[in-house]
Parts: sequence; C-alpha cells; structure tokens
Amino acid sequence: MHRATKIVATIGPASSTPDILQKMIRAGLDVVRLNFSHGTADDHRQRAEMVRDCARQAGREVAIMADLQGPKIRVGKFENGKTVLEPGQPFILDAECELGNDERVGLDYKDLPRDLKPGDVLLLNDGLIVLDVSRVIGSEIHTVVRVGGDLSNNKGINRQGGGLTAPALTAKDMEDIRTAMSLGADFVAVSFPKNATDMEMARQLANIAGAPYGIKPKMIAKIERAEAIPALQEILDSSDGIMVARGDLAVEVGNAAVPALQKRMIRMARDSNKLVITATQMMESMIHAPVPTRAEVSDVANAVLDGTDAVMLSAESAAGKYPVQTIEAMAAICLEAEKSEQSELDKDFLDRTFTRIDQSIAMGALFTAYHLGAKAIVALTESGSTALWMSRHWTHVPIFALTPRAASERAMSLYRNVTPLHLDTSSDRDTALQQAIEVVVSKGYAARGDMVVLTVGEPMGQPGGTNTLKIVRVGDVL
Ligand code: PGA
Ligand code: MN
Repeated sequence: MHRATKIVATIGPASSTPDILQKMIRAGLDVVRLNFSHGTADDHRQRAEMVRDCARQAGREVAIMADLQGPKIRVGKFENGKTVLEPGQPFILDAECELGNDERVGLDYKDLPRDLKPGDVLLLNDGLIVLDVSRVIGSEIHTVVRVGGDLSNNKGINRQGGGLTAPALTAKDMEDIRTAMSLGADFVAVSFPKNATDMEMARQLANIAGAPYGIKPKMIAKIERAEAIPALQEILDSSDGIMVARGDLAVEVGNAAVPALQKRMIRMARDSNKLVITATQMMESMIHAPVPTRAEVSDVANAVLDGTDAVMLSAESAAGKYPVQTIEAMAAICLEAEKSEQSELDKDFLDRTFTRIDQSIAMGALFTAYHLGAKAIVALTESGSTALWMSRHWTHVPIFALTPRAASERAMSLYRNVTPLHLDTSSDRDTALQQAIEVVVSKGYAARGDMVVLTVGEPMGQPGGTNTLKIVRVGDVL
C-alpha cells in the first residue's frame, strides 16, 4: 500500500535499541527526530548511528531531524525536587534564587523580570499551572497562583499572548547545530523563531557547520510562539518547511485557536511550496495504552485531510510503552484518510504562475498524469525540487522520485505523496529512464501495461535541470 503522509517519530529511551528501531522502520517510520532538549551530544550521536545501521539493514533511507531546544524559558530546581502550589497563594519567580522552595524558585533566563509587568499571566508546565503577575521588584516576579498543582524542576514558562524577548538561538543551540551536522542530520528544526531573521541566522550557522561534511540541511521553523503567526509568510519564505508545534503554540495563543491556525499554516505552507509537519499529542494516550482514542484518530485523519506532509510523534515513541504499535496505528489512520480525500486538482492550479522550466515540467507532469489517469509519476531528480512542486498538489497519483543522491532521497522522505528511491547513475537518458521504470516495477508500484508519466533533465546530473516530460506504458520500448 502506498501511504502518502509521512511519519516523524522522536526516539528516546523507549526506542533506542536496534530491535525496536528496526520494527519502527518496518512499521512506517520515515523521519527520526532527535530531541536536543534531552540527552547529551553522545546520546544523539549513538542514536544517529543506530538509525543509519537499522536503515541500511531495512534497505532504505531514513532521514534524521535534529530538533533544537531553543530559548525555552524554565524555572530552576527545587530543594525537594518540587513544590505544590495552591490557588490564591503568593509565589515568587526569582532570577537570583539558587534552589527553590515552597515560596520561590529560580529562572534560567535571568532577564525575564524585565519582560513582565503586573497583570501579565504566566503559564507553567504546558499551561497546567497559571500565575498572575502582581509586582516585579528587581530580580523578583511576584505572582498569585490562579491554577495550582505540582511544580517540579525545570518546567517551562510561557506568557499568555507571547512577547517574551529571549533570543531565538541560544549558545547551546549553536553547539547543538555543530553536533547535529557532525552526525549527518538532514533536517534542523528551529524552536521558537519569531521572524525570517531567526531562520536565516540558523540556516547560516547550519551551512557553516555542515560544510566540512558536505551537508546543507533543510531548515524547519517550529511555529510555537504568538509572534510567529503574523510573520508566518516571511518565516515560510526563509525556511524549507514549518512545524505546527501545537504544544507551546497552544499555551501562547490558547488551545481553542490552534485547530484553525493548523489549517491555515498547512494551506500557506503548501501554497508557498514548503513542507509542513503537524506535531504534538497526536497519539498522546498511546504513551500508556495500546490503542488510540477516537479523538486522536480524528486528529491524525484531519491533519491528513488538511494536507499535512507529515504527522509527528513525541513522547509516544520516545518514552511510551508502545512505540511500534503507535506507528502502526498512525500509518493505518493516514492510509484510510487518504483514500477518502478528494482527488481533484485544487481549483487554483491553473492560476499558478512560474517562470522556471523545471517547475513548468513538474506542473505539466502533474496535470497530464491526473487527466490521463496514469498509475504513477516517475521523476528523475538530483535535488528533489521537481518532486516537491508536484507534491504540493494532491491528485492520488503516487510520485516516485529516483535520485542517485542519498541525501536527496532522505530530504524527500518528508514530502507528501513522494516515495524516494535510489537510482544507479547512468549517463544516457533512455537507459536511466528504463532503469527508473525497472526500479518502480521491481518494487511492485507499477506493472506491465500501466501508464506512467516520466520527467527527466537533459543533460542529466544537473540540479534544477528537469526539461523533459515523457508518457509511456510499462513494457513499451522507450
Ligand atoms: P517541543 O516542540 O516538543 O520541542 O516542545 C513541539 C511543540 O511545542 O509542540
Ligand atoms: Mn515546543
């Protein structure tokens, strides 16, 4: 079965043995996320090596996404590991406090008091705890607990409505970018960017750190602060894709605003020829249970129907009891949702403007395959951009992107409806096309007599060089 929607899964303690990882890959894992908020550089390096080993054994490429921690603002540690906050009680966040107690706790971002004023609302621990700021005195933020609960070491802090000024890339992020490039990450996810400048800076650092390894990673902007919403178009323009990071986003803009924002972000990303990942709590209950809730099934299916490239797992696969079953369940939901999706080319397809030759071949291939009812589109590609453009429109015609470059294969593993495959290089066009068809047939994706639409560049081997469209029946002489 050809699944169009891709699955990104975070790996962690629950999924860091070759056996489990193998099973996850077999169940449909496309992109592994390494979460740099947890673990050491060595942990990530070992996991990355394990991913490459398991992928080699499975006979396919699995991409790696390094997700930077970013300037998540956190409380410090407590004498006893935690405190219990009661509604109505006063509580102080103190930039100068070393070790917290029942009255106060420290902060990792020392400038936080300067960003706040009386009347501000702080949300701790993903919004489970709510504090009203009453006064700010020097290093101390005086608050009154509105919603209480357990507050333990290093829990995150957000301000309702956003607007905290912590810089987007911390010293740790810069170090982690170097680690990520040294272990060959294909994607870098940047946490809490607020504008294009944040993304440009991250890309520059990644390209410099990646140069010795020949890596230019794809940059993913995590949309998770309120300020990123009005800046969405410029962030998209400066990134390769975005993540609908619903965890922090919901805390900043309010839960109820997130579903509509998700739809808007997915639409804008596709319209801008960019990638989009829908993330956080998609299968949350499967951390503890072997089956998802009805609501989770609907959530994943709706993200597919919205047109997301990928759905993502966090704690479910990193720390949950059922990492393999979660991927199996997610894959099944995606497949079923895709079946029901309307396959009409979007109405504005014909109004699309483009000036590039390769892009017009991509659009021509899509149009032709759709109207002729072709079984497959087979794109010979160097960089993967033809496949990206074609995958921005949904037609039910699967796209097979063949490339001699393993890095392009991994980059395309996030593209919706694109199956990246390896092609041995061949200098002459007809031999390469013949080989491409053989690969697709040998994997069982097309059979003799099926109509296939092919795209290729001539001369071959040049990124952006696609200039030829060919329609054939499998088995015919080219
Ligand atoms: P995180 O990002 O898991 O790194 O916090 C995703 C989110 O906030 O939804
Ligand atoms: Mn987040």
